[in-house]
Amino acid sequence: MADSTPPTHSSAPPPPDRPVYVIGGGPGGLAAAYALRARGIRAVVLEKSDRVGASWRGHYDRLHLHTTRRFSALPGLPMPRRFGRWVSRDDVVRYLEKYAEHHRLEIVTGVEVSRVERLPDGTGWLLRATGGRELTGAAVVVATGFNHTPRVPDWPGRDTYPGDFLHAAAYRNGEPYAGRDVLVVGVGNTGAEIAVDLVESGASRVRLAVRTVPHILRRSTAGWAAQYSGILVRRLPVRLVDRMSRVQARLTMPDLSAHGLPRPDTGLYSRVKQGAIPVQDVGLIDAVRKGRVEVVAAVDHFEDGGKIVLTDGTRISPDAVIAATGYVRALEDLVGHLGVLDARGRPVVHGARSPQGAPGLYFTGFTNPISGNLREMALDAVRIAKAVARDGSGKASRLPG
Ligand SMILES: Cc1cc2nc3c(=O)[nH]c(=O)nc-3n(C[C@H](O)[C@H](O)[C@H](O)COP(=O)(O)OP(=O)(O)OC[C@H]3O[C@@H](n4cnc5c(N)ncnc54)[C@H](O)[C@@H]3O)c2cc1C
Repeated sequence: MADSTPPTHSSAPPPPDRPVYVIGGGPGGLAAAYALRARGIRAVVLEKSDRVGASWRGHYDRLHLHTTRRFSALPGLPMPRRFGRWVSRDDVVRYLEKYAEHHRLEIVTGVEVSRVERLPDGTGWLLRATGGRELTGAAVVVATGFNHTPRVPDWPGRDTYPGDFLHAAAYRNGEPYAGRDVLVVGVGNTGAEIAVDLVESGASRVRLAVRTVPHILRRSTAGWAAQYSGILVRRLPVRLVDRMSRVQARLTMPDLSAHGLPRPDTGLYSRVKQGAIPVQDVGLIDAVRKGRVEVVAAVDHFEDGGKIVLTDGTRISPDAVIAATGYVRALEDLVGHLGVLDARGRPVVHGARSPQGAPGLYFTGFTNPISGNLREMALDAVRIAKAVARDGSGKASRLPG
């Protein structure tokens, strides 16, 4: 890993060539850096933490990919077979470290980029970073991920709650909750898996607060991974995929209506398009059927005395609350002023396309595709490198040789 300080911006005329800066040393950023390098373009990854793969290092202990090893690898380096079909969190981290080392990527850690600005002469980008650094790049790939800034709803009275309250980002394992009554809020993949983890770790009671019933899929059916279907149907019309998945769900998934999880009214792919990926079953169905995870209504507000009022009026008093309520993309400060974000704070384009009026600015990893985010970031990396080579190769530094 390089520890050299990147070149700083000065008032002297800009050098004829500049690197492409990649902001973020997660899978999206590393893949983009490799793909650029493979085209002979110098890419410098700026990572705010002290190591690559920071988000993965922080995930809970039992996490395994729900996409297959083969379709989760980044370009230029397969994941080793010994990682198994469903790769563990630790092996994902190992892979990312190996990836950076294997491709000898140029990575500067401990540098947080706070703002990206277009150079006044339009020849590139100015990045403002930690310690007053000002870096100029021919192009910029934003790969800061959307799993680093926890989102906790502003529930009235939450500050008065005397029990343990944490966001899922801080959850490691169920050990501290053995023998305790826990409420998990939110039934995305994280909430569903944490609920199961708590049951298996001996929590005395586990409730799961659900606002919108999710689509639930088996991670694999008779050896066929759900991701394969996601890849195959990804370009089909949304309504057709909705219909197909409805039929498949009726054939393969038990009806959990009596347990508070009826089949959703909105189709699976329609929901994906709205940003909600289906929950992959890693034990939730079984736990719900056996009554070990109780599905309850969404949280409305908190009351004195440690009571939580649910939207159906029920009052409950768990010992601990784990908010699996997602993350915010937190791109506003970085690039919001460039007019490149939509009303929900998402980049207006991603992959090989730059937003209008921002040539040479690329985004990767801010979508939740049905075919797997890692797979799509791997593909986007190659597309981004191709676009940079096509549109910016005159400006970007070339590697020797
Ligand atoms: C629990 C969980 C399970 C998942 N499982 C799967 C799965 O099975 N399959 C799949 O395909 N996808 C999965 N994903 C989705 C996605 O693939 C991962 O979140 C992936 O890590 C996203 O990669 P990324 O590079 O976009 O972001 P990240 O991995 O979050 O990396 C972003 C990096 O940017 C750094 N950074 C952020 N801001 C700045 C800044 N301003 N300056 C410098 N550095 C910065 C961060 O420190 C971080 O290292 C999962 C996500 C979660 C949360």
